[in-house]
Amino acid sequence: MKRVLVTGGAGYIGSHAVVQLLDRGYEVVVLDNLENGYSELVDRRAKFYLADLRDKNSLRRVFEAEKIDAVMNFAAYIKVGESVENPTMYYENNTYGVMNLIDIMVEYGVKNIVFSSTAAVYGEVKGDKLVDEEFPTDPINPYGMSKLMAERVIADAAKAYGLNYSIFRYFNVAGAHEDYEIGQKGEGITALVPIILQVAKGERAELGIFGDNYDTPDGTGVRDYIHVVDLVDAHILSLDTLKEGVSGIYNLGNGNGFSVLEMLEAAKRVTKREIPSKVVPARAGDPACVVAASERAESILGWKPRYTSVEEIIRTAWEWEQKQ
Ligand code: UDP
Repeated sequence: MKRVLVTGGAGYIGSHAVVQLLDRGYEVVVLDNLENGYSELVDRRAKFYLADLRDKNSLRRVFEAEKIDAVMNFAAYIKVGESVENPTMYYENNTYGVMNLIDIMVEYGVKNIVFSSTAAVYGEVKGDKLVDEEFPTDPINPYGMSKLMAERVIADAAKAYGLNYSIFRYFNVAGAHEDYEIGQKGEGITALVPIILQVAKGERAELGIFGDNYDTPDGTGVRDYIHVVDLVDAHILSLDTLKEGVSGIYNLGNGNGFSVLEMLEAAKRVTKREIPSKVVPARAGDPACVVAASERAESILGWKPRYTSVEEIIRTAWEWEQKQ
């Protein structure tokens, strides 16, 4: 396992995978269509190809030129609301694109794939039970379904073609690498942490708190926030299990829930800024509480998240945000 192809390597999580792989001695090839990626996020030590999962020939050019040992697939559309408005766009990129990728991997004898999936594959979460990998899947939006279908394609293809896979279901990813100038950017960000920090910076007038009537201790939504560097670490650790022919599906979260109000207070402490907020109606489809059980990643991959405090997670995001 020497050379890894990172699709979507010019995006937020993909660019972290690139530097963390390089730091561990892997050779890295990046493939990105730069639709939502930024070439300045791609470490210069990686080799870059402009290609698109929906275009098999563009993928072929990469696999023809580079001997790839494993693929990490981060290339995808990720906006839930957009997926509701334009579902076929999501299925085409996130599901059909993965089918293309698998076909080309098989064509070139590449056996290992690490796939970026999401907690959005799970059905409606009621109550505050931790969500483990056996929790029923039943996505409530096309984004989650496009990822669940891709998971199924990968599992079926693994059986048929003898591939090994690690599928990671992300909870709420935030933060930025402390040693590199990479982080989350882009139009139309809807995630809580960057939005709070944009308010702290004065780029947004206020934070809209989506509902305070949930059945949670303070009435606002509770989520599991995980640092992007920890998240990517699990992907890299899993390359060793793939080498041994071990495939699996793993949740990636911290196992601790934080409410919107707790996140807001933590951000005020970190930024030492005013962060105006007001309660607005709850967002359609937002559950009260989603917290991961990630023991499987810990026991099988030997993974342990290092950023366990949300202050630390917010601080690294804030340091990146201030450089923008
Ligand atoms: N949230 C909020 N205001 C915002 C964005 C998010 O109150 O402007 C809440 C949202 O309802 C949820 C939590 O923050 O309880 C995390 O939302 P995010 O969109 O980051 O991730 P999700 O869990 O929805 O995938």
